[in-house]
Amino acid sequence: MKKDNIFIDIITGKIKTDILYQDDLVTAFHDKNPKAPVHVLIVPNKLIPTVNDVTDQDEQMLGRLFTVAAKIAKFNNIHNSGYRLIINCNYHSGQEVYHIHMHLLGGQFLGPLLSII
Ligand code: AMP
Repeated sequence: MKKDNIFIDIITGKIKTDILYQDDLVTAFHDKNPKAPVHVLIVPNKLIPTVNDVTDQDEQMLGRLFTVAAKIAKFNNIHNSGYRLIINCNYHSGQEVYHIHMHLLGGQFLGPLLSII
């Protein structure tokens, strides 16, 4: 299982990336390999590898992922047409970066939820 985590370097500014939003709990930036016209990653500032690792203390941060997703969707004017939020967990989901992140995808019709290979 690959255990790369480049997101901490983006959050801390060690790697320069266009930060779309940042506060005390989360950071948002463009996915480097976009799968839709709008493809933003919303990431907790605290390293939590997978959804399996969340605790009750993370509930405020997890809620912030959604409120920031809604703000970014509105900013991109895709809030009415619609969008998809995805959080992958572990190998079968295809998770590549072991630092929880929410994908916000939109800007076109996204088709069926799952493509199973
Ligand atoms: P997941 O498969 O859910 O772990 O998604 C990881 C996502 O992170 C993929 O869509 C990658 O394209 C994206 N990604 C990996 N490295 C970077 C990076 N340096 N900057 C922006 N997005 C990245």
